[in-house]
Amino acid sequence: MAQSNRSMDFQFRPWRGPPKVRSLWMDNALAREGGGAPRAFAGDATYDVCIVGGGFTGLWTAIRLREFDASMRIAIVEADLCGAGASGRNSGGTGHWWSKLPTLLKALGKEDATFLLNKSVSILDDMADFVAQNDIQCDLRRGSSTWTATSPAQLGAWNGMLKTAEKMGIEAPYTYLTKEQLREQFGSGPYYAGIVEGGAMRVQPAFLARGLRKIALSRNIDIFENTPVTRIRSDAAGVTVETAQGRISAQQVVLAANAWMAHLPEFRSSVMVVSSDIIITGPIPEILQERGLANRPGSRNSRLMLNYGGKTPDGRVYLGRGGGTIAYDAHIGPEFDYSPKQAKEIEADFRYLYPELRDVPITRGWGGPIDRSTIGLPWFGQLSDDRIHYAIGFAGHGVSATAVAGRAIAARIMQRTDDWTATADCLWRARQGSFPPEPIRYIGGHFVRAAVLRKELAENAGRKPSAVDTKLASLAPATVTDIATRE
Ligand SMILES: Cc1cc2nc3c(=O)[nH]c(=O)nc-3n(C[C@H](O)[C@H](O)[C@H](O)COP(=O)(O)OP(=O)(O)OC[C@H]3O[C@@H](n4cnc5c(N)ncnc54)[C@H](O)[C@@H]3O)c2cc1C
Repeated sequence: MAQSNRSMDFQFRPWRGPPKVRSLWMDNALAREGGGAPRAFAGDATYDVCIVGGGFTGLWTAIRLREFDASMRIAIVEADLCGAGASGRNSGGTGHWWSKLPTLLKALGKEDATFLLNKSVSILDDMADFVAQNDIQCDLRRGSSTWTATSPAQLGAWNGMLKTAEKMGIEAPYTYLTKEQLREQFGSGPYYAGIVEGGAMRVQPAFLARGLRKIALSRNIDIFENTPVTRIRSDAAGVTVETAQGRISAQQVVLAANAWMAHLPEFRSSVMVVSSDIIITGPIPEILQERGLANRPGSRNSRLMLNYGGKTPDGRVYLGRGGGTIAYDAHIGPEFDYSPKQAKEIEADFRYLYPELRDVPITRGWGGPIDRSTIGLPWFGQLSDDRIHYAIGFAGHGVSATAVAGRAIAARIMQRTDDWTATADCLWRARQGSFPPEPIRYIGGHFVRAAVLRKELAENAGRKPSAVDTKLASLAPATVTDIATRE
């Protein structure tokens, strides 16, 4: 077994302050709480476990650790406010890894692929149970999830997944939507085909993150907000987490800072930071009713620059898209909070996908960073000092996977051997490949992104994309959809 290196020393990039634009979800969550000054950290303190980052990963890990040990001293240190990162900005689609089945099978073989798939499905019930038991008001809705083709080129995006399931002898939970169902649900939008499954879940993500924070506080987990971690050092005595105003000594540390830690040497080659961006209308329930869209389900299409979206309980319509701003060397600038350029491009998508809402204004938009891994699956590990744990690589698909991470990291810290550590082992083995170094990654990324955009716009318009664009687009890393197996 490799010897743990008990003397690490690395720095986080300087924190650039809270974003100027927050998500509507986060604004609503903070407004509902009605204020109360967050507690920042200063001085010296000692904890058993110190968690860096107060998003879903950090919060679930803290809560699961507490379930194992009532007296463990646990701290979460968050640069901004809990939920202010991707966790409070996402679209709330709480999915599983069915669409990753071909990748799972290829990387792990049938038994472990099935095991991981089942874990990714069962975590939804696990989350829903926790939300119900703790009365977290996060608009959790169980229901169907629809995967669509919004241009003829996207037809068959799911064939690889369905055929893999057949080959493995497992039944995929999807059914095809008929032409009539497509029309009934999506109106006159360009919906060419779709498959639907009934086990999906959706939440208002900032309500969930802030709800988890409340539960964590009630269970004696110390949460320090507005406290960016600047540096981490370790030696034989333990690990020290430094902030501008103080130092925390801990026996174990969890790095849960998502894309904001992608610059660390351990993650640089295997994580690429790209934005995902969302635009939203005002509340338009009457318009949706009048124009036959009141029952339109949340859905995603099969683009590489994946569109996802749905409607809120108060009748707003939102649409998001992955593959937005590319970060040079994992630098996350203000355009990752809101990018007028991305918002404009997504508005064009909105006008394409919702022809009935052509005249409805977009009232707001925001973005967030995505920690893209090469195969679109996360992994949970330990640095060369094995007292420093991490989870990364959620690739825009982390609402449920972070709950898996919380269970797996907590189990590992407790030195348990269980289903969750087995899950982490499988994900670890599934990792593969790396991204090119900078500046090739950034420059190449822009070429590929521009080609994908041109290709997909041509496909929307019914034109054949150029051979060069098709070739370049094939170099894009996997998203939720397994591009390698598209037919
Ligand atoms: C626009 C958008 C849409 C998305 N849609 C979906 C979706 O529909 N479904 C889905 O499953 N996933 C989606 N995702 C992805 C999902 O939101 C993430 O995978 C998930 O929230 C990651 O959680 P996390 O806790 O690991 O990271 P985060 O929530 O990003 O938390 C990391 C935290 O670390 C903090 N931090 C950073 N640096 C420091 C530091 N130096 N010191 C202390 N703290 C620090 C940050 O402030 C942040 O709060 C989307 C993401 C975005 C941005």
